[in-house]
Amino acid sequence: MKVLHRVADVRAACDEARRAGASVGLVPTMGALHEGHLSLVSAARAEHDLVVLSVFVNPLQFGAREDLDAYPRDLDADAALAAAAGVDIVFAPGVDDMYPTGRPLTTVHVAELTAGLCGAARPTHFDGVTTVCAKLFAIVGACHAYFGRKDYQQWRVVRRLAHDLDLPVEVVGCPLVREPDGLAMSSRNRYLTPAERDAATVLSRVLRAVVAAVDAGVRDPAAVRDLVARAVAEEPLVALEYCEIRRSDDLAPVAELDGELLVALAAHVGPPGGRTTRLIDNCTLVVGPGGVTADLGTIYGSAG
Ligand code: AMP
Repeated sequence: MKVLHRVADVRAACDEARRAGASVGLVPTMGALHEGHLSLVSAARAEHDLVVLSVFVNPLQFGAREDLDAYPRDLDADAALAAAAGVDIVFAPGVDDMYPTGRPLTTVHVAELTAGLCGAARPTHFDGVTTVCAKLFAIVGACHAYFGRKDYQQWRVVRRLAHDLDLPVEVVGCPLVREPDGLAMSSRNRYLTPAERDAATVLSRVLRAVVAAVDAGVRDPAAVRDLVARAVAEEPLVALEYCEIRRSDDLAPVAELDGELLVALAAHVGPPGGRTTRLIDNCTLVVGPGGVTADLGTIYGSAG
């Protein structure tokens, strides 16, 4: 496995592999790798000759008061995990490699899909994501790029970016991976104290409660939002930012729970008034005449 830092070196390595007939799969990350990231590597490894994992904490997708400086960075540990998972190239550019002129004059904006959910509290976030993804797709020239449905909105936004700009890449969404106690894996879980880590499990517990409620016949989105708000309010260390029910394909709001749906939430975990960690979680539901099916992702280490 190679660790490359320069754009030109990665482009050359990928071009050479393609000339030799290899297919290329890309897994974009911000590092601090965990099993959620590695599940994307497995998917890429299964389908491609050359697997490129990018590790770049992209300043463009952080807001002014967010955790850009504190974000965990450990390239040696990431490279060891990547090598063990079968990655061929780790692309770990510095900020100057990716943005040599400073803030780029060209950015990419996907409308509508970015307006609500995480986009409401993070108005510049998705432009940073789509801009860096457009650059990564141009540099690596991957035929498939693998994203986690943990960041469901991000996956839909990046898919739309590729579709609208005819980028020659298929944006694949992979299952959300959870810790054995249900907490969605996230690099930001490292910020949590043991008490906060315990409290954060309310997010996956409440999603299971939502699935049970919909299974029992609840069809009013307001009733679901209310159920979530009440359950989260019982955890003093967790403050709900939003709970939204959307159509899963275009993220449009719904008046009734019917069809293919996304239940997405974001919350801040930590003492009120103190330092908090923003976490997100979601599940998808299909509500139809035949009943309700739910996808809460997979528990790491279990069969399904
Ligand atoms: P990040 O490093 O947080 O930017 O994430 C890089 C990629 O890994 C994104 O496509 C995420 O959706 C994906 N990812 C992060 N956590 C998980 C998880 N728990 N399960 C599946 N994919 C994940």
